[in-house]
Amino acid sequence: MAVNNSKPAVRRRVHKGRVGGCLTVLVILIFTVSTIISGCTKKNGGNKEKPVINDVSVSQESVTDVSQDTVKKYIICIDPGHGGEDIGSSNGDRLEKVDNLRYATEVIEEFSRRDIEGIEFEIVTTRTSNDVDMSNKERAAFGNNAGADLYLALHRNHSTDRTANGVEIWVQQQAEVIDEVLGYKLFKYINKVGIQSDRGLQKGYTNDTQNNFQIIEYTNMPCCIVELGFISNDEDNRLFDEHYKEYGKAIVDAVVELCQEGYLDKVQD
Ligand SMILES: [Zn+2]
Repeated sequence: MAVNNSKPAVRRRVHKGRVGGCLTVLVILIFTVSTIISGCTKKNGGNKEKPVINDVSVSQESVTDVSQDTVKKYIICIDPGHGGEDIGSSNGDRLEKVDNLRYATEVIEEFSRRDIEGIEFEIVTTRTSNDVDMSNKERAAFGNNAGADLYLALHRNHSTDRTANGVEIWVQQQAEVIDEVLGYKLFKYINKVGIQSDRGLQKGYTNDTQNNFQIIEYTNMPCCIVELGFISNDEDNRLFDEHYKEYGKAIVDAVVELCQEGYLDKVQD
């Protein structure tokens, strides 16, 4: 390698000598040309002073417009899954519809406790009691009619295999980037609270990736289904009981971050 390197070094030196001479000529040429050009631009620059001042006044107006819009409002639909006759899944006396409302209530209360500069949340919810019967179509229509910017369906998972555990988040098969970003943010904050396992972001429908869950299919805004641990797994239930308030905060953290990064503005525009 040393032998090969020595030749280009010599060539460069010879080349530098030639270039040095050329450079001198070039510098003189560039100096002459730039003197002529600067003379021209000075004339034009004088004429351009007024438009520059106009530009400043325009930007001041736009700054005023921005300040009027600094508080951005987002409508978030919280949908505690199941309710009424539809108990969801169960484990002994433990009913999914009750667990879902339990952490959904925490999410809603956490939103009301947050005071985030420049962001205002309006929270709408499909139910505040365990006696409400609503089909998935009715729930989605509720979110759509409310003009929600984001829809969160809150559930718990179930399996006949009682060792199955962890958190799953479902998005649409043809997910917009926003749905996926929200999914990953939810995992980021829920993982911090502590879960048995992260089962990852899932698309479509269980065992059928060509179809979406109804709630995802019928809603017309970014939507995630959160399956917060398995009701059929004892350790997931223990974690749920211990941390459901923190999980609620984690979900709000994810939504706040999504809004602060402007993802929902792209939808609103
Ligand atoms: Zn469910």
